[in-house]
Order: sequence, then structure tokens, then C-alpha cells
Amino acid sequence: MSEHNRHGLPRSIPEPRKRLVRQRCGFGCVVCGSAVIQYHHFSPAFSEAKDHDPEGITLLCGTHHQEVGNWLSDQDVIKHNAAPYCQSKDAHRLVRVQAPLYVIAGTAIFFGTGDLITVGSEPALKIVVEEGRLLLNATFFDDAGRPTIKIVDNELSICRDTWDAQFVGKQAIVRESAGRISLRFSVIAPNCIYFEHLDFAFGTSRVVFRPDRFELWNRNGLAVGNSNFVLCSGGGIFIDESGPKLRNLRFLTYSSDRFVELAKTGQVQLLLSELGMH
Ligand SMILES: [Zn+2]
Repeated sequence: MSEHNRHGLPRSIPEPRKRLVRQRCGFGCVVCGSAVIQYHHFSPAFSEAKDHDPEGITLLCGTHHQEVGNWLSDQDVIKHNAAPYCQSKDAHRLVRVQAPLYVIAGTAIFFGTGDLITVGSEPALKIVVEEGRLLLNATFFDDAGRPTIKIVDNELSICRDTWDAQFVGKQAIVRESAGRISLRFSVIAPNCIYFEHLDFAFGTSRVVFRPDRFELWNRNGLAVGNSNFVLCSGGGIFIDESGPKLRNLRFLTYSSDRFVELAKTGQVQLLLSELGMH
């Protein structure tokens, strides 16, 4: 495929224009809602285009992109572009997971089911077992406390006001503004979900996940933080206006050839740094 059309227009679409197309189309294939997409020039066709006009470009999954000109006519593309699937249904794709599921949040590895992270009265990360199936429920917020992505019973949707969301391979990246990532996660099917990068704020609480750390902040500063891998089981993290709290959460870390339990906690804020985690 030539890199330029006969008008000298390069095939690559500038990133800011791609984002406008993604947002207009609801971040998914306009026909079926698949989150893994390609860009398709439909008005005019790429061969005739003199410019990458975002209004003349739409999102199609690989399957639907191949079918343009076959059973998916140009008129069909115009029709679907005018009423994108994701703008009406809010649904993107299934997150396929199965037991035993572990959730890696920065350097904290959660085993088990239940309310892993709760924000206010909302489950921010919750795993439910229903008839032997695992159902993941999650709501993620950006640094300003706005919801960006929701997963309801394994079905993923991207909130309308989200600035940008992109799926590259198995990885989802949510940005709250240019160059500012609020969430990056991968579903390493079927047993692992890895939250590599997360920033979210709720009241005076902040949650930060990075490949080398896991941090919970309250108004006074860092409440829980560790840069070593820890295993978390049996409970969860509850975040409200007054700050993050750990409930019935056991922290295990690897030390001298075995796992040792760091502390059993109730509704106390735990300074893991005092327990030798730093
Ligand atoms: Zn499609």
C-alpha cells in the first residue's frame, strides 16, 4: 500500500485528529462497538482525500473495515457513522476472565473475590462469582474525580466525557488531557488484570499505581505505600472523604525464603513504611 495518495496525502493521520474521530465515534467500531479499531476515510475515500478531515473519517473494527465495498456499502458506513454503536449502547467488549483471578495494582497483587477497592459507596473494583463465573465490576476515575471507564459484569464502557481512550493490543489507555494518562491496564486473559498506571482522586484521597509502587494518600500525606511486591487477600481498601482505610486486608510479603504477614488491619490506616516496606 502506498504511503501517499495521488494528492500527496500521507496515510498516517495526525494524532490530534485521530482523537477527535475516536471521541465522536464513542471509542469503538461504529458498526459493532468493538474497541479494537482502524481509521477509515469514507467522505471522501482516502484515494480522493486532500486532507485528513476528522468529519470524513470513522472508526471500524478489522472485520468491518474489510467488508467495506462488499456487504458493507459506503451508504451503510455513512449511516453507522451518523449513529455510532457506542454512542447508543455504551457497550464495548467483554472482558474475559476466569478463576483463579489475580489483580495486580502497581506492586500490590490481590487474590480472591469481593470488594477489592470501594470508593464512597461505589465498588471501584469488585469481583463477583455468579454460577461459577467471575464477573468483574469496576469504575475508574481520573485525577479530577470524573469517571472514565466502567466495567459492569465484564462489559466495558467508556464514559462520554472521557477525553481519550485507546486500545492497543491487550492494553487500554485512558488520558484525561494531552499527554496525561490517568489509567493504563491490560487484561492478560484469562487470569490476570494488570493495572500498570492509575491516578485517581476522591475528596482528599488519592490512589496511585505504577509499575514500581502502590500508594494510597490521605489529606495528611502518604497513608499506605510500598515499592516491594505484596500479596493482598481477604479484604479490601475503602476510600471515603476522610481517606483510605484497609478492612480485613492481609498483606503478605516475601522475606527470607517465605511469605510473611505484615499486619492484620481493621479500620486503621497503616503506615507500611514503618513496617519496613520502604
Ligand atoms: Zn465492527
